[in-house]
Amino acid sequence: MNSENFNKIAQVIVPLPVEEAFDYAIPTDGVDYGVGDYVCVPIGSRREIGIINALSSSSRFKNLKKIIKKYPLPPLPEMMLIFIRKVSDYTMSPIGEVMKATLRGFNEEMLIETTKQYQWNNIQNAKMTPQRKKILQCFEENDFNILQRQQLINYASTSVINDMVKVGLLRETMTQCGLHFPQPDISFSDISLGHDQQKSLDYFNQYHIDNHAKPFLLDGITGSGKTEVYFEMMASLWEKNPEKQILILLPEIGLVDQTIRRFQKRFNAQPVIWHSQITESYRKKIRCGIIDGTIKCVVGARSGLFLPFKKLGMIIVDEEHDSSYKQQEGIRYHARDMAVLKAHTENIPIILASATPSLETFVNAEIGRYHKLVLRERFGEALLPQIHLIDLKENHLQKGHWISSPLIKAITETAFRGEQSLLFLNRRGYAPLLLCQGCGYRIECPFCSAWLVYHRHDEKLKCHQCGQSSKFPEKCGSCGATDKFTPCGPGVERLHEEVKILFPHLRSVILSSDTQENLDAFNSLLRQVHSGEINILIGTQMIAKGHHFPYLTCVGIIDADLGLQGGDLRAAEKSFQILEQVSGRAGREALEGHVYVQTYNPSHPVMTSLAQQDRDGFLEYEAQNRSDAHYPPFSRMAALILSCEDEKKLAEICRQLIKISPPAENIQVYGPAPAPILMLRGRYRYRFLIRSEKRVLPQNYIKHWLRLIKIPKDIRLHIDIDPISFL
Ligand code: ADP
Ligand code: ZN
Repeated sequence: MNSENFNKIAQVIVPLPVEEAFDYAIPTDGVDYGVGDYVCVPIGSRREIGIINALSSSSRFKNLKKIIKKYPLPPLPEMMLIFIRKVSDYTMSPIGEVMKATLRGFNEEMLIETTKQYQWNNIQNAKMTPQRKKILQCFEENDFNILQRQQLINYASTSVINDMVKVGLLRETMTQCGLHFPQPDISFSDISLGHDQQKSLDYFNQYHIDNHAKPFLLDGITGSGKTEVYFEMMASLWEKNPEKQILILLPEIGLVDQTIRRFQKRFNAQPVIWHSQITESYRKKIRCGIIDGTIKCVVGARSGLFLPFKKLGMIIVDEEHDSSYKQQEGIRYHARDMAVLKAHTENIPIILASATPSLETFVNAEIGRYHKLVLRERFGEALLPQIHLIDLKENHLQKGHWISSPLIKAITETAFRGEQSLLFLNRRGYAPLLLCQGCGYRIECPFCSAWLVYHRHDEKLKCHQCGQSSKFPEKCGSCGATDKFTPCGPGVERLHEEVKILFPHLRSVILSSDTQENLDAFNSLLRQVHSGEINILIGTQMIAKGHHFPYLTCVGIIDADLGLQGGDLRAAEKSFQILEQVSGRAGREALEGHVYVQTYNPSHPVMTSLAQQDRDGFLEYEAQNRSDAHYPPFSRMAALILSCEDEKKLAEICRQLIKISPPAENIQVYGPAPAPILMLRGRYRYRFLIRSEKRVLPQNYIKHWLRLIKIPKDIRLHIDIDPISFL
């Protein structure tokens, strides 16, 4: 039977917050419609670009609207459709929402701007007319590369080309006019790997072929050369399959510049960048190259997972432990976990690289679910830095000062040797709190349960929860006093002030996400740091990881206890990771590194493990604690967060919810509890926490539970599977 007659209905997923695909009638316009095709469909009075998810012969709906047209793009690979469905199921997000991430920025305009290009396709017994032979000759002369329409037209007429597309001798795809993406040259540079590096590469080459589905943990101490190793793994893959595309995920935009420069040095080509700050015109340019497969490598942020790659061949998740991989809004997904899911779905290798693997990954490697590749030493002559704990109970800080005398001495000596120091403080702005000395009033965000943070750089008060900013107040809103506000506690700006007073002759800069707002200026600052022009850098967590600064030998951690506070089940793990990461910035080349850790808790396991360089010891200690407490990764968790402008109404719904929560074995429901940040953007928030045994998926339970109640429209409900923030 002719499939065109058989399938009259197409189920189309549109990029809107809908749970299901919509049925549309397939027009009888002589065009072949298939699964994965990009189509234009009517939604109410609008048009949307959607993807055909399935074809069928009938629909339970009557009077279906017709598909308006199909776009001449290669179809979205079926694996991608399966992946989108799985992400939607796992995160409990509407499938249309996930599709939106894939179709992000697609619009008709860009499709019009594209031109046609052609690929030769050998089919047996095709009749080769003289004109067709001419086209073949054109391909022969061009090594059977993809050719533009313009090139073919010199050999035969348009009707011949169209005819050859129809019989299948040519594959027609669309591309952006004249865009050329340089291809990586795997033999461009010849590096020789260290012993452990080579071993890891050999192991990868041996195992990734027959055991795709099992992820590789590339576990190497800071500075051990993980990047070089995964570049060589990429080269191996391209050697066998030059057409494969590779995705490198990074947790911070700030790391992208360094990675593309290193990639350029290794492969003599620029990879493509993908993150929230790239321009719309750049986005437009690369979209087609990703779809038609001419782009071979994308370096980017977590949303890169949803790009419609034609032939994805491998995923690398660098700094896999990093909690920035978890998206906290919209589709709440953990990019590392979804990357593992994607690799499994597509049956392609995945590398998780880290010097401080997450407990989840560490345990998976221990029990053999992941391959484990270990780099035990720093590359070349570099040694791990020496860690010195500074007990602040003994080394008193004067009021309004944050740098202890041993650290001042170390910075002075470092500068004397012409080397760099990094002072790490994970607090943006000048001071985390403004206090009125007249009445004790603390300035709070009017929309959130959070103190406003004073940013002296632009004389503003900012809420780090909702992003609102306001002018520095003239008088106290409570007692009316003027000039009575005092900043409490340090942020990086205040620390910078102290540095400038202590070291007036040294060049110092702040690197934080506020500095990063202008990405070009930020990258140029990074290069100055890299070349040694800066003596002291002051940074938040975004500078703590991944960066390689050759002259940096002294790291000072201003408040090592900061991350230990708060009721987060991962507080110790996250603290250890960030401290180990920031320590790892010191002494990455021949120069010896020293790390000074200012703490009031020098006997805390996080500090002692750090000082003794005993990472595995720490992870085992932490694994034991989490296992005893039935916390992840030894159980599963999910959170329900409900919010409403009216707290009474919210509390009432939550009471009803808990009342009807179905009893279930192996699942516990905790709450409702007011969220630690009770108010956010003017809405009150209550939380439930669901915990299940590892082998039970809480998703099914939640689905069942929520079916029993209708949540009023003015109450928002967010589901967070595997939450990492409990605020
Ligand atoms: P990691 O990501 O593990 O912290 P990097 O990949 O940044 O470490 O490597 C640290 C430094 O050592 C970099 O300057 C890198 O270029 C260099 N390096 C690592 N491996 C090699 C190698 N095989 N040959 C030459 N240089 C290397
Ligand atoms: Zn706020």
